[in-house]
Amino acid sequence: MADSPRKAFVCGQPIAHSRSPKIHGYWLRQYGIAGDYVAVDVEPARFNDFLTSIGRDGFVGGNVTIPHKEAAFRLVSSLDEAASAIGAVNTVWLSEGRLCGSNTDAYGFAANLDQHAPAWDRARVAVVLGAGGSARAIVHALKSRGLRDIRIVNRTLERAHDLARAFGDPVSAHPVSAVHELAGDAGLVVNTTSLGMKGEGTLPMDVALLPDGALVTDIVYVPLQTPLLVAAAARGLRTVDGLGMLLNQAVPGFERWFGHRPEVTDELRAMIAADIEAGR
Ligand code: NDP
Repeated sequence: MADSPRKAFVCGQPIAHSRSPKIHGYWLRQYGIAGDYVAVDVEPARFNDFLTSIGRDGFVGGNVTIPHKEAAFRLVSSLDEAASAIGAVNTVWLSEGRLCGSNTDAYGFAANLDQHAPAWDRARVAVVLGAGGSARAIVHALKSRGLRDIRIVNRTLERAHDLARAFGDPVSAHPVSAVHELAGDAGLVVNTTSLGMKGEGTLPMDVALLPDGALVTDIVYVPLQTPLLVAAAARGLRTVDGLGMLLNQAVPGFERWFGHRPEVTDELRAMIAADIEAGR
């Protein structure tokens, strides 16, 4: 049995846009692993059945994406520390017949910065723009890496307060009107809002107010160079785009399902970057 081809999935709705099959397909080819990774369109009403069939349907596990991450959190039998803290599951696998869940977004975020901006976590103050699903993973990553002052700014202030309450000290919530007061000593700025996707809108942050050594990163990766990153680079600040987070969050799942820890290489990055560019 150990040698039979293993099969994993990414499930969501819609799912056609997902780049995960290309990422995992690249690694399967690269490491000569006889396995498969496929996209499965699963509507919310069918998600429970889909997830609880894992193991009987040929799958060894997979990725869970929008809109199922919270449902997966409730359905799995066992959660790792990141999934428990974030309240959502994006990676599932079977262990001794039990369905286990993890959230690898925080890992992916931190690994991307480790790769492209080493020592980023020496920043004392971080400003996080947005308080949606992905912001929970970012705040978890920042808190785990020891940032001492994490300021969440969101259009809907109550969502920022919910997040700050969930994570406790040193996370605080702020209205958009306060963003410029918060910028002056920010060593790290992370955009987690969907603003910036395909040129939609602009962020309310004036990068001129950030300190010279600040690092600016965006988790949005379509386009790769979001308006925030373009403005920050023009101001002479260090920037890191969101593609590396997408690539790195895939690493732990691949290792679980296929037994080999894959590498995020320049070649993989260039392949997915070209795909993003072609799809715009
Ligand atoms: P959510 O829908 O959960 O949250 C969206 C956030 O954007 C909220 O904070 C929302 O504010 C804010 N927002 C949306 N529109 C506006 C607007 N017009 N003005 C001000 N604020 C706005 O999305 P996610 O957190 O799941 O994802 C956010 C982005 O991150 C997406 O673009 C996604 O593609 C990207 N992403 C990238 C990943 C990667 O691996 N690089 C991983 C996960 C996500 P409000 O609360 O007020 O509505």
